Amino acid sequence: MLSIKDVSVRYGRSVDALRNVSFDVPEGEVVSVLGGNGAGKTTLLRAISATLKLHRGALTSGQISFDGKRIDKLDPARIVEQQVIQVPEGRQVFARMSVDENLRAGGLTADPKRRSVARDRIYELFPRLEERSKQPAGLLSGGEQQMLAIGRAMMCEPKLLLMDEPSLGLAPQLIARIGQIVQQINSEFGTAILLIEQNASMALRVSHRAVVLEVGELALEGNAAELAESDEVQALYLGGH
Ligand code: ATP
Repeated sequence: MLSIKDVSVRYGRSVDALRNVSFDVPEGEVVSVLGGNGAGKTTLLRAISATLKLHRGALTSGQISFDGKRIDKLDPARIVEQQVIQVPEGRQVFARMSVDENLRAGGLTADPKRRSVARDRIYELFPRLEERSKQPAGLLSGGEQQMLAIGRAMMCEPKLLLMDEPSLGLAPQLIARIGQIVQQINSEFGTAILLIEQNASMALRVSHRAVVLEVGELALEGNAAELAESDEVQALYLGGH
């Protein structure tokens, strides 16, 4: 479904953020991208969603295809039209707008007839958001804002959802809840998900496959359950020995 081939990204003259990264996200699967600070995870998402074009001086090479078509030369708005939707890092909800208005803003590009269906399904997935639908989004807790950011992205009925560190800054209980939501979206909506996470144990639990980035290069790739058992992932990312 999503195919990343030999993708390299350089910021300015000297920072090689990604070097020849290749892997696929198969239809209907959850693939997580693990790696420490500065490994290039966010850069990879920006390359796919084309938001790297908004960073002056970022140079990208390689090929990114979605459903068999090259998308790496498209603008961000055209990527959204392909139903490849990014949940931004750090939530970025519209604080003064109500929960409901935030969701409607997410669905502006969708077919109007489908908008209310999409919203009903999102409220089913997040009953807490429905309870607070009239409240300003800025008054929600951090976890609720993260749910709203995910719900807003789901308003576009994505075929592929790009999630940038959804568990960042959340308490352990909420991290587990985010993991459940990832699985629910994947199984109930059939959405493929590319999940960027520093929380490797949650990510590996909810993913079919995973890749590990180390300083811009693809270091490991495979079935998530098998990677979780590997000595290297245990030692580096799961606190094992
Ligand atoms: P983190 O988890 O800390 O967000 P990450 O794995 O997402 O890390 P990136 O944010 O993709 O990593 O950064 C990869 C490299 O590119 C780092 O060395 C970072 O300093 C550099 N970088 C990121 N954005 C820019 C930018 N706009 N200009 C210059 N260098 C950048």
